[in-house]
Amino acid sequence: MVVDAGHGGYDPGGILGLRTDPNEKTVTLAVARRLARILRSQGLRVVMTRNGDVFVPLGQRTAPTYYFRGHAVFVSIHFNAALRPSARGIETYYYRPDSLGLAMRVHRAILAATRAEDRYVHWRGFFVVRRSAVPAILCECGFLTNPDESRLADRADYQQRLAGAIAAGIIAQRREGNPYGIQEPVIVSPAPPVYRPLRHRRAVSRHYGRSRQGYYHHRAHRQTKTRRTGHRHRH
Ligand code: ZN
Repeated sequence: MVVDAGHGGYDPGGILGLRTDPNEKTVTLAVARRLARILRSQGLRVVMTRNGDVFVPLGQRTAPTYYFRGHAVFVSIHFNAALRPSARGIETYYYRPDSLGLAMRVHRAILAATRAEDRYVHWRGFFVVRRSAVPAILCECGFLTNPDESRLADRADYQQRLAGAIAAGIIAQRREGNPYGIQEPVIVSPAPPVYRPLRHRRAVSRHYGRSRQGYYHHRAHRQTKTRRTGHRHRH
């Protein structure tokens, strides 16, 4: 299992210029640590992409998936942000066709455990789910810009409930396969998973640009991109 706590270090997460209390990077790590502990207690091998307040480049987050085969999965923990404080609820993302069942199981488990609003499962090419070599999902575990959900996200018991639900979804998926009624869609991958520095940076920013809540989400990565390739931007 690869457990990925979103953001970290100089990348606090959330929306540019909008501070949340707690920071996204803090609560993603708290939930990721709890998730790792639960999965290990079930006898699973767990690699965490970060276990402290450090910045980890996106490519380094998916790297461990290339060493795993068989039943490994990649789970990225995030919290949402929106300019509208009333925005609330849980969203789950997947990209690889073999990850929809896992996304559905984990999404339903989180909803059942938290009774949060259902913002559905979405197919979207966030870097970490797109570049994973194993089934991969990204969980947006509530809005830190919503007063109720941000208060909950800061509570240890709520973090434990989220982690427990995600773990239950992963374990049920391993044991039982796809939930009833879920057929994996056939999605023709737009590009083979090879590393092409310039093209892949453009693709990443295009995907983030399209995302509703995720537009400013991976600020640190976007800045890196602009700095390094700014003069090449005309095409
Ligand atoms: Zn995030």
